[in-house]
Amino acid sequence: MKKICLQSNIIYGPIASRRLGNSLGINLLPTEFKLCSLDCTYCQYGYTQHKVFDRIPSDYVPAMKLVVKEVEHALKQYIASETKLDYLTFAGNGEPTLHPNFPELVSAIVELRDKYLPDVKTAILSNASRVSDASIRAALMRLDKRFMKLDAGDGKTFKEINNPHEKVSYSSLVKALSSMRPLILQTMLVDGCACNSDDDHIDLLIDQYKKIQPIAIQIYSLDREPANASLVKVPQERLLAISRRIERETAIPVDIF
Ligand code: SF4
Repeated sequence: MKKICLQSNIIYGPIASRRLGNSLGINLLPTEFKLCSLDCTYCQYGYTQHKVFDRIPSDYVPAMKLVVKEVEHALKQYIASETKLDYLTFAGNGEPTLHPNFPELVSAIVELRDKYLPDVKTAILSNASRVSDASIRAALMRLDKRFMKLDAGDGKTFKEINNPHEKVSYSSLVKALSSMRPLILQTMLVDGCACNSDDDHIDLLIDQYKKIQPIAIQIYSLDREPANASLVKVPQERLLAISRRIERETAIPVDIF
């Protein structure tokens, strides 16, 4: 398995994505290091050097004005090139909702989309750590699609797999996700030094899926070199068995990536 490099710009791609088609990435985070509220054992960027939750130093992230300018420039280029774009996706080098101006940036970028390419959808890949904040939740709900991370069915496993910042509360996170329909949940399943893929852990995850009621669940296992090299990839046959069980017990469609 290979390591993945950090994005070196605000705008990256477009990436041909199975989930989103032709997707242009928006990175609201630093280009020199990962900035995240979690420190997932499996992170493809390695361990989190800057684990933060709020009060982010303004020099850590690109200024709002600059992000808006770059997005506008990229959208104008797409109009000129007539290349088909399906999604504008907030993702990048960590957790996008950590940007201190995240709600304002969502508003500005949705406006730009409406002005230049109204057929293009907006999406986010988020670790869900800040959904307890009503302003973050409201901003997330302005996007067309929300892919939210949930790797653990209980607080203990959440700590083992995701190593959250001390201010992130697992129970508040689940409660907030339950009020954010529609959304898609993404679950990374791992084994080895930390495990969330045996039957007991899947029982707990199923309980949370039932509470949150996502419109779909995406499960996957390691594809890149994880931060903790002692983690083990869950075999495809096991992912298949897990997906069938979740579908049977929740009636929610499950995709394996
Ligand atoms: S949430 Fe994503 S970027 Fe942050 S540590 Fe986990 S895998 Fe890495």
